[in-house]
Amino acid sequence: MCGIAGVYGDKEAAKLTYLCLYALQHRGQESAGIASSDGVRMYEHKDMGLVAEIFVKRVLDELRGDRAIGHVRYSTAGGPDRKNIQPFSVDYKGMRIAMVHNGNLTNAVRLRNSLEERGSIFQSSMDSEVIVHLVALSRESLLEDKILDALSKVEGAYSLIFLNGDSMIGVRDPLGFRPLVIGKIGNGFVLASETCALDLIGASFVRDVAPGEMVIINSDGMKSRMFGKSAKCSFCIFEFIYFARPDSTVFGRSVYEMRKGFGKQLARESATDADVVIPVPDSGVPAAIGYAEESGIPFEMGLIRNHYVGRTFIEPESGVRHFGVKVKLNPASGFLKGKRVIVVDDSIVRGTTSKKIVDMIKKAGASEVHMRISSPPTAWPCFYGIDTPTREELVASHLSIPDICKFIGADSLKYLSYEGLYWFAKEFEGEWYCDACFTGKYPTRLIDAEHIENLAKAR
Ligand code: 5GP
Ligand code: SF4
Ligand code: MG
Repeated sequence: MCGIAGVYGDKEAAKLTYLCLYALQHRGQESAGIASSDGVRMYEHKDMGLVAEIFVKRVLDELRGDRAIGHVRYSTAGGPDRKNIQPFSVDYKGMRIAMVHNGNLTNAVRLRNSLEERGSIFQSSMDSEVIVHLVALSRESLLEDKILDALSKVEGAYSLIFLNGDSMIGVRDPLGFRPLVIGKIGNGFVLASETCALDLIGASFVRDVAPGEMVIINSDGMKSRMFGKSAKCSFCIFEFIYFARPDSTVFGRSVYEMRKGFGKQLARESATDADVVIPVPDSGVPAAIGYAEESGIPFEMGLIRNHYVGRTFIEPESGVRHFGVKVKLNPASGFLKGKRVIVVDDSIVRGTTSKKIVDMIKKAGASEVHMRISSPPTAWPCFYGIDTPTREELVASHLSIPDICKFIGADSLKYLSYEGLYWFAKEFEGEWYCDACFTGKYPTRLIDAEHIENLAKAR
């Protein structure tokens, strides 16, 4: 999971890009970077850490020009490493090209091997870098043609933004796995993973970049080229369930309303007598509101989240039970005592967090804990840009729902049904969305699947 943004035609392009990344921080906290251009020179800064830590005023002042692109990274293929921080850039015949990528290519290993045989020297272990090399090697002369030439060789998920001295180019793969939206700010243009980035800088939403579309933005304005026609789409349904921010509109739908709808549908499918409905914050909140509304059981914030938790904390040597989860979440004191509690979360991945949460709620005195999950069991790894663990680590790949219930120690456990997931658009199921992490039905061939699983194991 990563976030990307770009601004063209504003004298504060780098600052606006930084703010977009700030709004997209939930899509990746490992590293961030920005490349800007004044039409002659390219300026770049990237580092490990959070956007606000990396881009202090002094750094932003050096990122000159009226166009910039940026990236926030959540480690996917490649692992945590300084050299994997985006944007990636190459010099090609006196032209510098920078690129940011959200998604994951499914044939990058093969492409990389053949590029290396032809003499390309890779700086990173990222699949994304393959695209940059293919662009540089293309015999076409215009950047847009070079990019299309490169993309004709890659498979998988990619939302991309390119920048050179002349233009900013946005691309979405023909199946449209990852989102990418177009915004307008004054006379300038914005591209971003989610609309929450447009909202922060006061840009107006124009439309989504279409699957298989390239938009070329330069001093003449914006033009569009369709390059990959596909009869179906594969919008990532997990964007609605977990990844995207609930204030965003993604794939033309309000993420908040989608999440509330999952919760309502879940309540219809798995009614249980209880005293309160509580979310696992923050990801479970909209679904829990929907669940409470539909069931008539009061919604309460039974678990309180500390919003100031960094990525690392020093644990006392004596050890505290469930310390890692406790730093983030704690039951509202005394409130859960004697209550029958419905706990709503968006998904269970390994099951280890859920187990600790159930234990914590029981310790707080709840008489019953009923776990409700607003998506179907996650049983298959993602090969399209999400940092899911290997199949063996996904608890739903090897345990039945009753066994997962036992493992997490809940009194009952219910997941949203596959049919219920498509409460909003029955006619679209399987045709418009990728839901492979629930079904194992991957919408593309996966020639590098084994390699990607091995990378996950190595981590
Ligand atoms: P588990 O019980 O599987 O250990 O943790 C479940 C929690 O992980 C849920 O609260 C869910 O919001 C969160 N989650 C779901 N998908 C992902 C993901 O791709 N990355 C991370 N870091 N958390 C996730
Ligand atoms: Fe999204 Fe799951 Fe498909 Fe990956 S496998 S793109 S997380 S729906
Ligand atoms: Mg969560």
